[in-house]
Amino acid sequence: MIDLRSDTVTRPTAAMREAMLQAPVGDDVFGDDPTVNALQERIAADLGFEAALFMPTGTQSNLCALMAHCERGDEYLVGQMAHTYRWEGGGAAVLGSIQPQPLPQGQDGRIEWAEIEAAIKPRDAHFARTRLLSLENTWGGQVLEAAYTADVTDKAHARGLSTHLDGARLFNAAVASGVAARELTRGFDSVSVCFSKGLGAPVGSALCGSRELIGRAHRWRKMTGGGLRQAGVLAAAALYALDHHVQRLAQDHAHARMLAEGLQGLPGVRVQTPQTNIVFVDLDASMQHRYPQGVVSALQHEGVLCTGLYRLRLVTHLDVSAHQIEAAVAAIRRVLG
Ligand SMILES: *Cc1c(COP(=O)(O)O)cnc(C)c1O
Repeated sequence: MIDLRSDTVTRPTAAMREAMLQAPVGDDVFGDDPTVNALQERIAADLGFEAALFMPTGTQSNLCALMAHCERGDEYLVGQMAHTYRWEGGGAAVLGSIQPQPLPQGQDGRIEWAEIEAAIKPRDAHFARTRLLSLENTWGGQVLEAAYTADVTDKAHARGLSTHLDGARLFNAAVASGVAARELTRGFDSVSVCFSKGLGAPVGSALCGSRELIGRAHRWRKMTGGGLRQAGVLAAAALYALDHHVQRLAQDHAHARMLAEGLQGLPGVRVQTPQTNIVFVDLDASMQHRYPQGVVSALQHEGVLCTGLYRLRLVTHLDVSAHQIEAAVAAIRRVLG
């Protein structure tokens, strides 16, 4: 099987497992795990923040960030299709009593400043208190440019808002654009990054921010059941990934381009040119009766796994080779041709 469902399907490499095996550990709830502490210091310094907190998942990391920024009855501004709003079970509203204000996004994932500004509520008892702007990079595999994020975070701050970045695939954005990750995080008061996506760790995310914000997030992490004990075995995988799996993301991006190019020219099939490791395929109305479940199962029959909730989505990662991409192209052409 060629598994293109997500970059989360990777298995830790032998060298990563060795790093996990050798990691010194302690009880992180007491703050005693040297490997967790090293990871937190490393990622905070790399991204230009005072502090960081290791998290079991990106969902919990985003949730704790939203809850650290906002109080009950506050509101956060977020893209209509953003992960924190759409794909995290409504946690901010359910667990944080934080009202999301979803806003339209362009094809490139941007929310125009005019939309953001128009959604900021007056300070009046009728309204939730608009407290936070949350953006996502990469968005649908596309890079939000530093010039855009610097501009809207500046303007948000001037209006008294805080800013959060869901940077689950921040390193993909950095590698694809040739802009340092810490430049892409400039202007954000907090950033969440995943180690378990393209970086290939089995588990883990980190939330970065000021010492004060991370202190508040720490309390929420405990309350949401995320206080881990000898978590150094997991942090070791993340540290290994930061050392060895960042630059190689360029290879996943090249594979995604190969895949997209290989699928050009099929009638009724539109393939978006990928910037990073995610390829979206849209089918014309004439093929919609086969879509998405029909196509997904037909591909599975041909040995290719992918997802098709809204559009067909194919994701490249550490565990797919150029050879497998060629085989996937041939299989997909057989199914869609
Ligand atoms: C995967 C993902 C998350 C959540 O990460 P989990 O570890 O799966 O909870 C958050 N945001 C984006 C954009 C993601 O792709």
